[in-house]
Amino acid sequence: MNLLQETKYIMDKYDVHPNKRLGQNFLFDENALNQIAENVTKEDTIIEIGPGLGTLTAILAEKAKKVIAIELDPKMYNIIKERFIAYNNIEIINEDVLKVDISKVNLKQLISQEKTTSNINNVKVVANLPYYITTSIITNLLKTDIQDITILIQKEVAQRICAMPGDKEAGAITYFVNYYADAHIIGNVSKESFIPNPEVESSIVNIQKLDKPRVQVKDEKLFFEIIKTNFTKRRKTILNSLSTIANKNELEQILTKLGISLNERGENLSLEQYAEIANALSR
Ligand code: SAM
Repeated sequence: MNLLQETKYIMDKYDVHPNKRLGQNFLFDENALNQIAENVTKEDTIIEIGPGLGTLTAILAEKAKKVIAIELDPKMYNIIKERFIAYNNIEIINEDVLKVDISKVNLKQLISQEKTTSNINNVKVVANLPYYITTSIITNLLKTDIQDITILIQKEVAQRICAMPGDKEAGAITYFVNYYADAHIIGNVSKESFIPNPEVESSIVNIQKLDKPRVQVKDEKLFFEIIKTNFTKRRKTILNSLSTIANKNELEQILTKLGISLNERGENLSLEQYAEIANALSR
């Protein structure tokens, strides 16, 4: 049985009607699945988000030491519980990934529970994400200690995430990701590789978290607020868009001192320039 037949068989067996609202598009393209799992070694504990019918989970369980799969839909959870009953290296959690605290503390606990030589470098996220929450998941993951994240996401979002600050595809998320990590696209996946076909093309992205953020920032909250404000008011000059969060005269002085034109648009600024503005304003 190939993966398409296997997916259809499981869907028939359990009477699965994919839930569009939960982003249920099941991947059956063997090349794409292998590419997503390429980085996984026997030392690794993999956190998989949205295992669905378990197609990627099965590949990960063969390659990794352990797989922790977090699935929101109780129906999917029950299917994979039954499917993987004989596996002793798969743990399935029936939860909303946005409510699971994949925080530092939990990871340290996780690693110490493993009682092996593994360390934080061996905890990786590998997933075909539910697309409706892609940016929230990436934002949360970059705040953890996990360094290696490989995800299948919408092509357009992948391009934005992997763009460089100042590129035409860049958005606020570009700066956020670039602050914490290096990101690059490792492959594209067509709509026809899923049941049902999604409305958009997809890309596989690898994100490698840096040991420390790329620029030094005194007040991260302010730094990200400045970037976000600029990108919600893209058409305005940096001076006008930031005047909602800072005094205009002070801003004029800061921008002049930093050699940034008062007519410059925020989308043309570098990460370093945003850091300089935020650091000057947080004094
Ligand atoms: N991994 C499977 C595959 O590659 O075929 C399914 C991927 S499908 C694109 C996304 C999966 O994420 C679905 O199984 C869906 O039920 C699950 N999901 C949706 N929202 C979720 C959430 N908030 N937390 C955890 N899982 C979620």
